[in-house]
Amino acid sequence: MARQRALVIGGSVGGLFAAHLLRKAGWDVAVHERAAAGLGDRGTGIGTRPELFAAMRRAGIAATNGLGIDVLGRVGLGPDGSVIHERTARGVTSAWSRIWRPLREAMPDALYHGDKALTRIEQSADGVTASFADGSCAEGDLLVAADGLHSTVRAQLLPGLAPRYAGMVAWRGVVEPGSLAPELHTLMFRHMVFGFPAGELMLSIPMPVPQGAPGERCCHFVWFRAADENALRALCTDTSGKAHGLSIPPPLIRPELIAGIKRDAATLLAPQLAALVNGTAQIILQPIFDFESPQLAFGRVALIGDAAFVARPHVASGVMKAALDAESLADALAATGSDVDAALRRYNADRQPYGAWLVERGRHIGATIAARDIEPRQRIETVMREYGAAGLVRDEAMAAR
Ligand SMILES: Cc1cc2nc3c(=O)[nH]c(=O)nc-3n(C[C@H](O)[C@H](O)[C@H](O)COP(=O)(O)OP(=O)(O)OC[C@H]3O[C@@H](n4cnc5c(N)ncnc54)[C@H](O)[C@@H]3O)c2cc1C
Repeated sequence: MARQRALVIGGSVGGLFAAHLLRKAGWDVAVHERAAAGLGDRGTGIGTRPELFAAMRRAGIAATNGLGIDVLGRVGLGPDGSVIHERTARGVTSAWSRIWRPLREAMPDALYHGDKALTRIEQSADGVTASFADGSCAEGDLLVAADGLHSTVRAQLLPGLAPRYAGMVAWRGVVEPGSLAPELHTLMFRHMVFGFPAGELMLSIPMPVPQGAPGERCCHFVWFRAADENALRALCTDTSGKAHGLSIPPPLIRPELIAGIKRDAATLLAPQLAALVNGTAQIILQPIFDFESPQLAFGRVALIGDAAFVARPHVASGVMKAALDAESLADALAATGSDVDAALRRYNADRQPYGAWLVERGRHIGATIAARDIEPRQRIETVMREYGAAGLVRDEAMAAR
């Protein structure tokens, strides 16, 4: 029988996991990525679970000790810098680029096509065709939509459904060891550190230095603050008065906004956390969205990763969910002898409820962060227990059934 062919749209972690796992299952694959150059480094740390490294091994990538670093526990700081809550919670964090880069390097260049922006898909009983902005087309038996939060494929299949702005932004940044006083290194590079201004959350997460030697540590902070859509549009307007919509490239953020964030950090945050805001070379503004697809399978098309669901960062699961979606799809194809229709039904049944659960979990943690009517101690303990523990919480919920 002729080998079947999968068109993968999006060459980030979700697309690459899918492409590797489908290749291993005997499919021909072609990855089509809109970005012309590599995706490089998003400068962000990610939470991991052993399943992520298992998916990498299954994709043929050795999980070397450079992929992650261990975290010892969680520390909550009051505004005066004193410890107000502590939890022993061991874990492993990584960096987005530490996962993406080996996946990309292991994918032959001939199968990874950059500068290929999908514009449209068409499908029939016999196959699926992808059309690209440069006028070219590609044909396959299956199309894997791994084109992220603003998925072109999903917009075509589910018109009228769009990611929902959560009314919250994250000010983020990476802090390299040289920018932080040495006496703060153990606290910040070995622990998740939380701060709780009213209705907000400041969080610092250890991560491997993206381009550093194995084991070299830094941290990245994320400060979640409320902003309605009008406020977000104002934040995304540059010094020339040009409005950039609901996001803005970091170098165009107005200097007075950065100065304001640093001032707020000095008054609202523990000095140890304020030092991170001041020690960051480039502060990034990220609006927080969530999105839930009611359906992940459409004929010969499967939505995976952020194209399928976007949960708020509080569940710290974006990369892991993309990997597990790709595994589920590969497993479903294997179990059905590559009967695309039956496999996609199986994939949908496996992953849709999980994605919906994850989005809801993210909303719940977001509501707890923003709540002003919860007793402060309870808010602090709940957020520190539940932040980034979504997978564990679900495992416990399943075990309790
Ligand atoms: C700035 C930022 C910070 C993040 N921080 C974290 C974090 O701390 N922890 C965490 O777990 N997750 C984080 N995430 C989310 C995480 O990166 C994603 O969940 C993860 O990358 C899985 O995504 P994906 O491959 O499904 O989609 P994405 O990584 O969004 O990739 C989608 C890909 O599709 C491409 N694409 C889009 N449209 C088209 C088109 N029409 N044609 C062809 N290609 C297209 C894009 O260029 C992109 O490469 C972050 C995401 C961003 C953007």
